[in-house]
Amino acid sequence: MNLVLMGLPGAGKGTQAERIVAEYKIPQISTGDMFRAAIAKETKLGLEAKTYMDKGELVPDAVTNGIVKERLAEPDTENGFLLDGYPRTLDQAKELDQMLTDLNKKIDAVIEIHVPEETLVERLAGRYICRNCGATYHKIFNPTKVEGTCDRCGGHEFYQREDDKPETVKNRLAVNIKSSEPILSYYKDQGLLQSIDGDREIDAVFNDVKKIIE
Ligand SMILES: [Zn+2]
Repeated sequence: MNLVLMGLPGAGKGTQAERIVAEYKIPQISTGDMFRAAIAKETKLGLEAKTYMDKGELVPDAVTNGIVKERLAEPDTENGFLLDGYPRTLDQAKELDQMLTDLNKKIDAVIEIHVPEETLVERLAGRYICRNCGATYHKIFNPTKVEGTCDRCGGHEFYQREDDKPETVKNRLAVNIKSSEPILSYYKDQGLLQSIDGDREIDAVFNDVKKIIE
């Protein structure tokens, strides 16, 4: 089963990826892991990627695609793979088709964990911190036991980091939505896209994932 997993930040993609890998024993292929492995093995492309990363620059598509192709050619992908965080652009999606054709493989399904934007903002922007002792809380997942009072020090003043503020989160989501939309429609046109309602319990979401895979 050759799968592509898609979902916005906060949609629970990582959790579902872990479950898929454990259940179906296929390797999870994420760009971060691939870069680290290619650099550790000092492959030509790995070393090339490193020169960009060391300078804090984006790794060019050609290098990223090359690393993905090397990874997809490894024997552990024979029974399938789960791509996570790639493709990130429409160009990469098209390049992926080409490299899979070269490798005599194809994508079986693209699974999108879909969560409404407002819910993602709630999930991602819920973190707040006690100004007195630095204890961190989350409005939904880990609130203080008594509203407005820090569990640890009894303080009453809280603040949010810039990254956790709703406006920042909304901007980050907007960027992600803009880049993922063309990829989703590309796969939809090919009849590969399967969207799952991710605004539910982890087990319920995973049951839908299993239905698609099986
Ligand atoms: Zn405190």
